Amino acid sequence: MNHYKLLTPGPLTTTDTVKQEMLFDHCTWDEDYKNITQTIRKQLLSLAHVSEDDYTAVLMQGSGTFGVESVITSVINENGKLLIIANGAYGERMADIAEHAGIPYEIYREDYRKVPQAAVVEKILREDPAITHAAMVHSETTSGILNDIEAIASVVKEYNKTLIVDAMSSFGGVDIEVGQLGIDFLISSANKCIQGVPGFSFIIADKKKLSDSKGNARSLSLDLYDQWETMEKDGKWRFTSPTHTVLAFAKALKELEAEGGIAKRAARYRENNRILIERFQSMGMQPYIDGAHQGPVITTFLYPADTDFTFSEMYHYIKERGYAIYPGKVTEAETFRIGTIGEIYPEDIEKLSEIMEQFLKEKEQ
Ligand SMILES: *Cc1c(COP(=O)(O)O)cnc(C)c1O
Repeated sequence: MNHYKLLTPGPLTTTDTVKQEMLFDHCTWDEDYKNITQTIRKQLLSLAHVSEDDYTAVLMQGSGTFGVESVITSVINENGKLLIIANGAYGERMADIAEHAGIPYEIYREDYRKVPQAAVVEKILREDPAITHAAMVHSETTSGILNDIEAIASVVKEYNKTLIVDAMSSFGGVDIEVGQLGIDFLISSANKCIQGVPGFSFIIADKKKLSDSKGNARSLSLDLYDQWETMEKDGKWRFTSPTHTVLAFAKALKELEAEGGIAKRAARYRENNRILIERFQSMGMQPYIDGAHQGPVITTFLYPADTDFTFSEMYHYIKERGYAIYPGKVTEAETFRIGTIGEIYPEDIEKLSEIMEQFLKEKEQ
């Protein structure tokens, strides 16, 4: 099989050095391994700009959704009510989680092309004092829009509600002042902007809020408080941990630092994204999200006018030449998506653009 690079928003293309870390079968209960977990937890807090006095980081087995489900089903008590702010499939997924767990919720749905409005959130919170928690997505990977967490956080905090942010596809690739914004629970995962491989999610949690959640969990394996309590002792995971993923992640964190931290990585992703949009626009493909709200992680494109090819044709043409792209996920328009995160550089985007130009030329003939 020919190898290709992933232009998808996670799993993404990782470095060979990150992959090499997985060649060792590490023991889970020994000092070294537990120390790796503890170091990862410390580094995550530092990336989030929060102190160990106020916040803690908890690692949770499973993909990103397991982390979101862990938070939603662990931190809202039986008298709580959740406001879900949604403008894409990942916002909708939080409603699905609440639905499954029987957690009362209200949902504010915004058009997929628009960022949720703080004024609307304010009105909902004012009119429904039963709401105790608000949850939103930062980078909505469905469309590529980057939501305004600053504006929403400010009203949620004004009303003294607990704020949950799914920053799955942004944390590590977009700088987030977690403490300053008053985010109480932020969720991300190993295989996105930190550039590790799939296997666990992590939660940056306000310690006080997490302590208060003791005994609330509706699930055993996703109980966030219990996971924290065990991990906090000495770095031992509560159940079998994804050892290979943990080793790869520890390496990925070192490589993030070597690159120059979040600021430098964010600049590379933005540059990838800028070149992508410029080159694709010149081929007649317009981004679905307007420039002001387009995030650097993934871009949704509308097909060029009078297209006579399918996604599958385009996908295979590009894949044979070394890159894998993503189908569209928005429902009301014909689209496809290109991710610009991972071990991907401007020269990859230039190469992809040339492949795409060639594809369109061949289609015209
Ligand atoms: C990737 C992602 C998730 C988690 O998806 P999994 O498939 O469970 O890893 C959740 N929210 C957003 C915004 C994502 O991009």
